[in-house]
Amino acid sequence: MTERTLIVDYDGTITEDDVLDRVAVQFAHDPQRVVVDGSIDEQRLTLHEVLRREYAEVRAARDEVIAWVLGNARVRAGFHELVAQARHEGWSLVILSSGFRTLIEPVLEREGLTELTLIANDVTPQPDGWIVSFLDESLCPVCGEACKRRTLAALEPLGEVIYIGDGYSDRCAAGAADRVFARSGLADYLAAQRTPFEPFGTFHDVAVALRT
Ligand SMILES: [Mg+2]
Ligand SMILES: [Zn+2]
Repeated sequence: MTERTLIVDYDGTITEDDVLDRVAVQFAHDPQRVVVDGSIDEQRLTLHEVLRREYAEVRAARDEVIAWVLGNARVRAGFHELVAQARHEGWSLVILSSGFRTLIEPVLEREGLTELTLIANDVTPQPDGWIVSFLDESLCPVCGEACKRRTLAALEPLGEVIYIGDGYSDRCAAGAADRVFARSGLADYLAAQRTPFEPFGTFHDVAVALRT
C-alpha cells in the first residue's frame, strides 16, 4: 500500500464553479461592495480579509443560501471515482478549503461523501451580515498570509502529498506538495512561475495519472 495523501481543494476544484465567490455576489446586500476575484493581488488584501468583507454583505437566510448552493454546486466529473480509487488503494483524501463548512457540508451530504475529511473555515449566517470564522489566523512563513500550507503541515505524516487545486488559495500550499494537479488560475500561476504541475480537466485525468 502506498503512503499517499490527496489534498483536494473544494471550490472550483471538486465543484465545477467557485460557489464560494458566487454566493457572495448572488446574495450581497450591496453587490458594489463585493470584492471580486482577481482583486486580491491588486488591492493587497489578504484572502481572509476579502472573504470577511464579501460575506459581511450577505444578509440572506441560511436556508435560502443553502438551497441556492444545492441548485448550483455541481461536482466535477470523476470525483466519485477518485474517492473510490483512494479508498481501494488505501490513500488518504482530505478536502482542504478556504471556504465554509456551512456551504460545503450540504453538498457532500447530497453526494454521499460525508465520510471524507473536510478541513475548512466556517461562516455564521446573521441578518445584518454573515460572520466568517477562520480555523487558523496565524501567518505562513512562506507567503505571509494565513494560508493552507500551514494547515497542510499540521497534518503530517502524510507520505507522498498530491495537491489538487485551481485558485489563489492553493498557490502556496501547492509548493509544499510532491506532485501538483492544477487547473484554471492555479495552472496559469504555476506555469508563470515555471513550477512543474500536471494539468487536469476532470478527476478522471487525475485518477489515470495516479495509476502510473
Ligand atoms: Mg478553489
Ligand atoms: Zn503560505
